[in-house]
Amino acid sequence: MKKINVLILFFCFCQGIFAQDKAEEYAKLPDSAMVELIRWDNTFVLDIRYATTNNFTKTVLYDCDKCFLRKKTALDLMAAQKEFMQMGYRIKIFDGYRPLSVQWKLWNTVSDKNYVSNPKKGSMHNRGCAVDLTLVDKNGNELDMGTPYDFFGKAAHTFNQNLPEQVLKNRRILREVLEKYGFGTIDTEWWHFSYRKVIYNISDQKVICK
Ligand SMILES: [Zn+2]
Repeated sequence: MKKINVLILFFCFCQGIFAQDKAEEYAKLPDSAMVELIRWDNTFVLDIRYATTNNFTKTVLYDCDKCFLRKKTALDLMAAQKEFMQMGYRIKIFDGYRPLSVQWKLWNTVSDKNYVSNPKKGSMHNRGCAVDLTLVDKNGNELDMGTPYDFFGKAAHTFNQNLPEQVLKNRRILREVLEKYGFGTIDTEWWHFSYRKVIYNISDQKVICK
């Protein structure tokens, strides 16, 4: 990377996060850098709900449907994706990094700490190391996980056993592979996985959409 590019890059990271033109540039960044996952590995399916009205707030919260994660988190998710693909599945992502200001908007809509982390403490999404996801099959159809994304109720509880056998099996596959690569579950949302290997600072970096 030329010196001038390093300067531009540094300047941009101070202002916000953005997609880089060449995926190989990511390899040179520090582990804590925010990277756009799809630029690095385009096998992921994206359905970033907060960039649409198809979410529980019924409002558009993001300026664009991009998924950023901390570099180290992204690398382990890419390793998990490889294993899922060997099984005939792919990861479909509903949400990744979420700026703290958006966390406030969510909190003001659902002030229930079982479902939305209090922005005063911040969410793992605000740290760029949590992902909301599911699996799709070779035809792009979502596996049956028992509830849709952002369903707030007992049926979505990760360890609820009162569900059809196929749902329990699908959730088990999702969990077991992701746990291998350092991602842990929470009790109330089967789709949420937090990266456990490192804890990063809360961020409110704006995602640059272009
Ligand atoms: Zn989540």
